[in-house]
Amino acid sequence: MLIDTHAHLGRLRHNDQGLTPEALLRRMDEGGIDRAVVLAVESPEELDYYVPTAQVLRWCACCPDRLIPFCACDPRHRYPGRFDPFPVLAEHVAAGCRGFGENLCGLPIDDPMQRRVYDACARLGLPVLLHIDHHINRDGPGLPGLERLLRDHPGVTFIGHGPHFWREISGDVDPAGPAYPAGSVAPGGRVAALLEAYPNLMADLSAGSGHNALARDPAHAVAFLEAHADRILFATDVLAEDQDLPIIELFRTLPLSEASREAIAWRNATRVLRL
Ligand SMILES: [Zn+2]
Repeated sequence: MLIDTHAHLGRLRHNDQGLTPEALLRRMDEGGIDRAVVLAVESPEELDYYVPTAQVLRWCACCPDRLIPFCACDPRHRYPGRFDPFPVLAEHVAAGCRGFGENLCGLPIDDPMQRRVYDACARLGLPVLLHIDHHINRDGPGLPGLERLLRDHPGVTFIGHGPHFWREISGDVDPAGPAYPAGSVAPGGRVAALLEAYPNLMADLSAGSGHNALARDPAHAVAFLEAHADRILFATDVLAEDQDLPIIELFRTLPLSEASREAIAWRNATRVLRL
């Protein structure tokens, strides 16, 4: 069994039509993926178009045994301080959504408006998928804002993803350096430290960032995945027909124990998403 906790449907970029449900199911079959989380996109920053939660729910209704809907809402709705995300998200949960994401909001990761969304997610039992880069859910070197969230919202499971999350796998991050650093991983990485200190942190292996964090140092990758096997989610970030998904082959070929492979492939997702 293999669950992809990070997939996209619909048109996201002007130069690409994106995936239909049929096309996503075909890509899942090619990759040996049984089920996939379909993410909503309701913040404007990363992409050219929105993919509203209501549309995600309509698409996922085709095959509830294979597609798992997530919901999203931008924390900047209405006038500052007047938006209550709880009833909006509660309606999405009642309609079948199993998590909040993808959070692609161009605010600091722990902005007060974002925290209102996280408080609503705590009440609703929704895990929160965070994309973290230099602009979206931005944070300082070493991820101090993420640490404040993990400490202040213990009832929320936060799933880290994106270049400024995964480069912190290494202890030698140059804040002015590349978002996708190459070469071996130095000791003292913040990702492992936060996973050890906070039981409400998970991480997904999707996209160039997750793949690079493993592929840059395969020996470290095996030790890291074995040490944190109960906190890592297999994921691709599939969003297009012609997209390479090297994480599938890398995950299959890394020499992991069977227990760790199973945890990352599907057991953790089943627990966190309450499937
Ligand atoms: Zn994504």
